[in-house]
This record gives sequence, structure tokens and C-alpha cells, in this order.
Amino acid sequence: MYGVTHLSFGAVVGCIAGQCLGYPFVGAVVGGIASIIPDIDHPYSLIGKLFRPLSSWIYSEFDHRGCIHTIWFCMFISILAVIVSRSFFSLSLIMIFTCMLSGALSHLLLDSFNFTGVRPFLPLVLRGKWIQLNEFKGTIRSGDSIEGLIIIVCMIGLFIRFYYM
Ligand SMILES: [Zn+2]
Repeated sequence: MYGVTHLSFGAVVGCIAGQCLGYPFVGAVVGGIASIIPDIDHPYSLIGKLFRPLSSWIYSEFDHRGCIHTIWFCMFISILAVIVSRSFFSLSLIMIFTCMLSGALSHLLLDSFNFTGVRPFLPLVLRGKWIQLNEFKGTIRSGDSIEGLIIIVCMIGLFIRFYYM
């Protein structure tokens, strides 16, 4: 998936989470930012290009869609965001955590439809009746036309929310 696809979908998911807590716009911004962070493990991703040295190092150590594309990493960056925003902003910490986590998890959700998939519980390997949760993969390839559709639908949704409501 392209960074813009994650960004627009993450903004919608963050907006919905923020709406529930009374701050839809902040939710959209936080969710959008959070949604592109997991791709820090790829140096040619949207965020990877911004932090190329760090991204290249993560890519060489952990590989793309490895332990950075997990629910543990999503929780880690959400807690980190709470710690950082505690020092700089007077925003609700529950709101920051919720919007950050939902934006980051939206990334895993979209990537789970990709043909390379995600393994959200790494390094944990689930067994027994939970075994199907170890890996999620679909049939979409980066750049498929469905990405354009996701972006358009998300943009229309955000436009309606912030322009008409
Ligand atoms: Zn990804």
C-alpha cells in the first residue's frame, strides 16, 4: 500500500476515534500521522524517505513488515506519543493514545489485504485455535486501482465531515 492510502485511511479512522472523544480534527491529524509510522521499516516509504538513515537501519535489522508491523509496535508508538504530548501539548492523553493506536492499527488492517500480508503478533507464534491469527494476507498489490478508490472515498468522507458538518 502507498503511504497516501495509509494516510487517508488513518485520518478517517483517527477522525472517528477523535469524534468519539470530542476532537475529530485532532483525531484525524494524529490518526493520519500514526498510520504512516509502521512503514518506517522501509526506506522508500513516505516516512522512510523523511528518516532515511533510521529507516535503512530498521530495514536491514528487522526487514519490511516484520516486528514493526505488529500490534506491539503500534502500542509502543502510542505510549511514546502520550509521553511526548504530555510535555508539549495540553491534549487529553486518552485521546492521543486512542487516536494514535487506531491510526497505527489501521495501517496493519490495510496491509493485511496486501499479498505479502502482516504477522501482527510477532514474535509471538499462536497455536491451537488461535493459529489463524498468526498471519493475514490478501490479494492486493501496492499500486492496485483499489488504492485510488480507498483514497477517494476517504477524502470525500473527510471533506463532508469537516466542510459540511
Ligand atoms: Zn506497511
